[in-house]
Amino acid sequence: MGFPLPPGSTIGILGGGQLGRMLGLAAARLGLDAVVLTPDEDSPASRVVKRTIVGGYDDAAALEAFAAACDVVTYEFENVPAATVDALNGLGAQVAPGPTALAVAQDRVAEKSFLNGVGAPTVPFMAIDQAADIPAAAKALGHPALLKTRREGYDGKGQVWIERTGGEADAFAAIGGMPAILEARASFVRELSVIAARGRDGEIALYPLSDNHHEGGVLRRTLAPAEVSRATAEQAERIAIQILTGLDYVGVMGVELFELADGRLLVNEIAPRVHNTGHWTQDGAATDQFEQHIRAVAGWPLGPTAALRRVEMLNLLGEEADAWAKLATEPDTRLHLYGKRETVPGRKMGHVNRLRGPV
Ligand code: AMP
Repeated sequence: MGFPLPPGSTIGILGGGQLGRMLGLAAARLGLDAVVLTPDEDSPASRVVKRTIVGGYDDAAALEAFAAACDVVTYEFENVPAATVDALNGLGAQVAPGPTALAVAQDRVAEKSFLNGVGAPTVPFMAIDQAADIPAAAKALGHPALLKTRREGYDGKGQVWIERTGGEADAFAAIGGMPAILEARASFVRELSVIAARGRDGEIALYPLSDNHHEGGVLRRTLAPAEVSRATAEQAERIAIQILTGLDYVGVMGVELFELADGRLLVNEIAPRVHNTGHWTQDGAATDQFEQHIRAVAGWPLGPTAALRRVEMLNLLGEEADAWAKLATEPDTRLHLYGKRETVPGRKMGHVNRLRGPV
C-alpha cells in the first residue's frame, strides 16, 4: 500500500507497554487500526488495540502473522533486536524508524560516534572492552568519569562512576563485565530534551524544549515549554535537524540534552521513539507526540507543534498511582493511567499533566 496510508489501514507496534498503548490510542483517533506484537499475554497496549499477536520478537510464525496484518510497522522501545527488523523487512514489512536509527540507539559508542559525525556535540568518550582499558581512558577523560554498558542500559542502570585511579576491575565487574563506554562527566546545569519528528517526505517538526528532572536515574518531572534563551532553542533545533537528517529518520525521536553553564548543549542520548519527556504534549501542544509519530510513519503530513499552555508532567511511580481518585478531582490535572495490572515500586504506572497557565 502506498503512503499516505488511508484511514482503515493498520499500524503494527512492536512492544506492548504504555508507549505502545498511547500510540494505539492516537492511531484510533485518526481512524487507523493498530496491531501489537508482544510476548506479554495481557499488555497495557493490547487492551486498547484491535489485535495482539502474542509472541517473542524472534518467533518466526508470530513475525509472519504480524507482517501480514500490518501496512507499516513501528516500535515503542529501542532494544528491538536487529534480527527482528531484518526478518520483518524480509517479509515485506515497512519498518519505521529504520534500522540505522535502531543500531545507533542500541550502542552508546555507535551513538556518540554518529552524533559527533553529524556535528551534534557530546561529552568526550572512549570505548572500553576490558577493565584494563579504563585507567588510560580515565586519564584522558579526567576523573570522575562515568562507565556505562554499551548496550541495554536505561534509566541509569548499568552505570558506575570512576572517581579515582584504582578499583577499575570492580567497577567493570559492577556493570556486568560487558563492553562499555567511559564518558567524561558533563557538568550540566539542566537536563533538557527536544521531541523531534520527521515525515516520509523529509518534513521536520520540532516541539519546544522540555526541562527534565530525574531521581535515581528515572524521569520524575518535566516542565514544558522549558524557559530557554533564543540561542539555546536554536542550538537544540540545529542539533535535532542534524540527527534526523543524518539518519534519514521517519517518526518521532526524543533527544536528551545536557545544558552546560556556558550555554552549550551536548547530546546525552537519543531515543528512536516517542519519549517520556514528550508526554506533556498530550495536554500542552497542538499535536501530541503519539499522533505525530503515527502521522509520520503513516506518511501523513506532520501536525503543528506549538505549545498551547505550560504543563508540568509528573510520572506516577509505583503506589503513587493509587491516588487516582484524588487526582481525578483536580480541575487542572489531566490523568493518564497505563492499565498495568501489578503495582511494583518505582514502576511507571501513569502520569499526570498539570496545566500551569498560558505560554
Ligand atoms: P543515561 O542512561 O545515559 O540517560 O544517563 C542517566 C542519567 O545519568 C542522565 O539523565 C544524567 O543525569 C546522568 N548522566 C549520564 N551521563 C552523564 C555524564 N556523562 N555526565 C554526567 N551525568 C551523566
